[in-house]
Amino acid sequence: MFGPVLLAAARSDGIRRLVSTARVTRPVVDRFVAGEGLETCLETVRSLTARGLDVTLDHLGEDTTDRLEAKRNRDAYLALAHALAAEGLGARAEMSVKLTAFGQALPGGGHDIAIANVRPVVEAAAEAGTTVTLDMEDHTTVDSTLAVLDELRAGFPQTGAVLQSYLFRTEDDCKALAGQGSRVRLVKGAYNEPASVAYQRKADVDRAYVRCLKILLSGSGYPMVGTHDPRMVAVAQELARRLGRKHDEFEFQMLYGIRESEQLRLASEGHRMRVYVPYGTDWYGYFMRRLAERPANLGFFLRSLATR
Ligand code: FAD
Repeated sequence: MFGPVLLAAARSDGIRRLVSTARVTRPVVDRFVAGEGLETCLETVRSLTARGLDVTLDHLGEDTTDRLEAKRNRDAYLALAHALAAEGLGARAEMSVKLTAFGQALPGGGHDIAIANVRPVVEAAAEAGTTVTLDMEDHTTVDSTLAVLDELRAGFPQTGAVLQSYLFRTEDDCKALAGQGSRVRLVKGAYNEPASVAYQRKADVDRAYVRCLKILLSGSGYPMVGTHDPRMVAVAQELARRLGRKHDEFEFQMLYGIRESEQLRLASEGHRMRVYVPYGTDWYGYFMRRLAERPANLGFFLRSLATR
């Protein structure tokens, strides 16, 4: 019931200022975000990889409204890629980027600005022995993001993308991206989407997730199963078993701070388990989406406000 309100708040500058500057918010944010700077993020990477988990790193930022900020976001990712290379972490750590942080929504050529900013990051990732996955944002960005993916994959075929099962179009997108060499993270979707483009009932989103899993796991690409849902994890395991997929032919992904014992359990069973680790100062939109996903997260936040 609170989900749509929180997702609307995620895009409100006024509420952003209020929540971001409230000191009480910080301990709750720390549950989901691995610090503000690169060094803290790298400490988290070392600790997670030492426990058998792989990572994908997100330098927080989205909905960039000016070109300079888009370049600053690009530079943050370049610094991250260089740090991963210096630490020899390329085999365990990849990077996730939001194209709106790179200028995708800027008027007058946002799509091209985003490509110009993301390309050097993808090159730096390859030099560091790793790769980039393009996060998926709201439905208005999907065509542009998949077109950027196409361009990037021409030079860097290992570049990945995210597909969201709540969108009606996604089964077709899964079919188009189930081929050799493609890397797709399947998620349910985290934005406030209208009934004209997306399923509104959780049961329909879940059923679509299973259909998409079938398409991706039956294909010849590398599926990345992004969910905390025990039912979806079990379905993916069963489908993989039936389809003869080995443990290194797909992976599970979960968000930092969510279901950690399940992350470790899957890794201990021999699955590749990748943790999505966000860091940086621009945590507001990410944080609000986590609150919207789960009433228990919202309750934790409200209780921490009440006890201050
Ligand atoms: P839900 O349907 O939210 O929950 C189902 C069940 O999972 C719950 O009943 C509960 O049993 C369990 N569960 C869920 N959360 C918790 C929790 N906090 N603690 C304990 N149990 C829990 N969305 C996008 O739109 N674009 C992206 O690029 C994107 N990238 C993502 C990357 C990763 C690695 C992951 C894991 C998610 C990403 N998402 C992204 C978010 C995603 O779309 C969902 O909003 C989010 O994962 C919640 O859906 P769910 O499948 O985890 O399960």
